[in-house]
Amino acid sequence: MIKSVTTSTNSLNLLLLGYERRGVPANNLTGPEQQLLEFADRYDAIILAPELDGAAVAYVRNRVPDATIIAHLPDNADQQQILGRIEMGADDVVFDSHMAIEQLIGTQILIANQRRESAHIRKKERCADTLTGLADRGQFLLKLQEMIKAQRKSRIAVMIFDIDAFKSINDSLGHEVGDELLHTVGERLSTLGEDGAFCARIGHDHFAIAIDNTQDIINASIYAETVVALVRKPYHLQSTAQAIYITVSLGVTLEDENENETDADELVRQANIALSRARQEGRCIARFEPIQAADAHYKHLLRNNLHSALANDELFMLYQPQIDMRSGQVVSAEALLRWQHPSLGLISPELFIPLMEETGLITEVGMWIIDRVCAQLRAWCDAGKVNEHFSVAINISSKQFNDSDLAAYIEQAIKRQGIDARQIKLELTESLLVLDTDQVADKLHRLKRLGVAICIDDFGTGYASLSYLRQFPIDILKIDKSFIQNIGLSEQNDAIVLAIINLAHDLHFHVVAEGVETQAQRAFLTQHQCDTFQGYLFSKPVPAADIRLHNDTPGRSAYIHVA
Ligand code: C2E
Ligand code: CA
Ligand code: CA
Repeated sequence: MIKSVTTSTNSLNLLLLGYERRGVPANNLTGPEQQLLEFADRYDAIILAPELDGAAVAYVRNRVPDATIIAHLPDNADQQQILGRIEMGADDVVFDSHMAIEQLIGTQILIANQRRESAHIRKKERCADTLTGLADRGQFLLKLQEMIKAQRKSRIAVMIFDIDAFKSINDSLGHEVGDELLHTVGERLSTLGEDGAFCARIGHDHFAIAIDNTQDIINASIYAETVVALVRKPYHLQSTAQAIYITVSLGVTLEDENENETDADELVRQANIALSRARQEGRCIARFEPIQAADAHYKHLLRNNLHSALANDELFMLYQPQIDMRSGQVVSAEALLRWQHPSLGLISPELFIPLMEETGLITEVGMWIIDRVCAQLRAWCDAGKVNEHFSVAINISSKQFNDSDLAAYIEQAIKRQGIDARQIKLELTESLLVLDTDQVADKLHRLKRLGVAICIDDFGTGYASLSYLRQFPIDILKIDKSFIQNIGLSEQNDAIVLAIINLAHDLHFHVVAEGVETQAQRAFLTQHQCDTFQGYLFSKPVPAADIRLHNDTPGRSAYIHVA
């Protein structure tokens, strides 16, 4: 069955499979349906009927690896069914009651397509290195990640080296010689496989080696010396009569014993830091010293200091203005948490919020934030700086949302400060809204009854079906800054931004764009009627005391002027 849906900007062709079955479950497609898959590339997405189970999804994924596949499920599908379809290869799921809403499905497909396309590009980048026959960067990272996950008693060492003055070999002896040299280095490295080492060429003259049977850094350094000796032996190549002698610089790092979070990217980053130190200091081999970066030890240190942060008054809020597209006035602000550590300095929330979530401290801190924001609103009101239309957006972590009775807490806090619930907006992430829907819906409805607004943060980045948009009492969509920052750079991206704005308006939501940095982005968003802007173009997050607020202009909205 073929169907076409339209978002406000695009018309999408869908291939619908399994809809003739009417309640008869199946784990594979009929012959004619299988034939339809031969023309799969004509469609923007394939939708599989609720009757087709996970095995059928896997079949389709196998047959058409590049297609966007959406699994249609009954409204009462449980978490396991949803995850099952995704695990079998579906890009997303959609529920019964929302199949008819074209805007919703259309936008969902646009987002799924883009996600698939970027995955495709990443996969392309992963094909092996033809010059040396070694793995390339992508494969190296994958393999390394596998090694990290595997159970073992020893530790993984990663080394990265490059050939000193490779450019001058290329320039003086020609590219043919340069290429043959790289090829021969690759050949020599491949003999290390016998020791269990995994080797790759990760850049032009950059090679990486991972080995998982190291005990300590001395061990690892000794192995690094073996590698250096191997590649420094003279080269007698076919493309030149003269013997070639090279030197290399090598950086080595060892997986941290106590740290279970080190991932492949992190180890490669550490080895690269060590490599640049080797080069800077003119040494052949340099080890990664933990002190060189915000590494595992640093995180450990932060974790140990987190608990006292609140008690020692080291946490504070900044406020980033939000601008109304139509009036150009500041009508609200987002509250953003900061941690000023007495000796470590200002620490990024990207670093400490995950640690607070991990330790569960985020719930207590989150409650403190609610109190602070309410008190701040009271103070601004008392000083006559804002009126009762001014609101503040508060970020709520999923953990805090699940672990606490937010509605009751907020009700008390606003009562204490005598502010209006409508002055509070809660920013939640999409990931929260696909889990345990009954409980989530119940909590959201209680908040809604109280009068606070619900905003979906980082909209468009989650894997969730957009159908939750109809299920929950949502007021605002905040388009993720990654989409805003790509405005004007890709047509597909612009189509998504547009589709989100239109979808939001059709569902009677308000739309906010975050991360607006340029006039061009602002112009695009204005042209397409995005309601509110937030971003460095207008103001960075600033302390409450540094923003000058006044409402000397008559009108409904509150005004802030950034000092
Ligand atoms: P978020 O909720 O997406 O917050 C927006 C982030 O974008 C902020 O980073 C903000 O400073 C930054 N930003 C604002 N305008 C621009 C722009 O024009 N360009 C760019 N590149 N960035 C911009 P920040 O303050 O570092 O916060 C990072 C994240 O930490 C937040 O992302 C949020 O997830 C979390 N976070 C911050 N404060 C809190 C909090 O009070 N509670 C909770 N649970 N999470 C928080
Ligand atoms: Ca936010
Ligand atoms: Ca965000």
